[in-house]
Amino acid sequence: MIRFYCLQNRGSGASLMAKAAIRSHAPALYSLAVIQFNGSGGSKSDKNLQAGVALCARAAFLGHVDALRELGHCFQDGYGARQNIAQGRRFLVQANARELASVLRYLSSPAWRQHNHNHNPPCVSDSGCEGLLSDFGCNVPAPEAHPVNRFLRDWFESERGELGKGLRLCSHGGCGRPETRAHEFRRCSVCGMVNYCSRGCQALDWKLRHKAECMPIERLLDEVGVAGNNGADGVGGMVEVEEIE
Ligand SMILES: [Zn+2]
Ligand SMILES: [Zn+2]
Repeated sequence: MIRFYCLQNRGSGASLMAKAAIRSHAPALYSLAVIQFNGSGGSKSDKNLQAGVALCARAAFLGHVDALRELGHCFQDGYGARQNIAQGRRFLVQANARELASVLRYLSSPAWRQHNHNHNPPCVSDSGCEGLLSDFGCNVPAPEAHPVNRFLRDWFESERGELGKGLRLCSHGGCGRPETRAHEFRRCSVCGMVNYCSRGCQALDWKLRHKAECMPIERLLDEVGVAGNNGADGVGGMVEVEEIE
């Protein structure tokens, strides 16, 4: 991923991910899925939604939670797969359950007790992170970003990484994927102010942060009867941005 996104060595980066994916490395499968969904490194016509769904399904089968969530949204939206709202919903519930299980494991771990001992209760931030897992009535900390995702974000936010003109990072703070061409990522259809590499990133960022930011605009639009609740989990949809080649 680092070679693909940071060094922009797309061919060898993708082939390294493919090698790992062949050996059933779930994060590599999911990374390749995101590349297929966006046509990253190529043009809009290089998007291959069906291939993205197939890679997600394989990663989800191997227990990758983000891939499972992505798959759920694909089925709900009919994105790269025949629409099946009930099946999509089931995948999303499974993803939430797995996420909850991993949080519970963390809460019972020595690492958490140590952290808790040094004061802060799970979520006292005033930035509205209480949204995560609210489906379960839980107040839990945001999941730790994977080291590679942290590296990507740090890289592009520092002097080292250079984000090409007009290119943006995925708005989900725990992701760090950059666009490889202008308007590659889809935007929040409610406010249009944020953009995401995937539905999974959108759904997570919605719960963690964006729900609080997006709301006023949504309400404003509601008043004039434009926006409705157009997504599951109360998450707004995503719109494609027209690309000028
Ligand atoms: Zn929004
Ligand atoms: Zn992302």
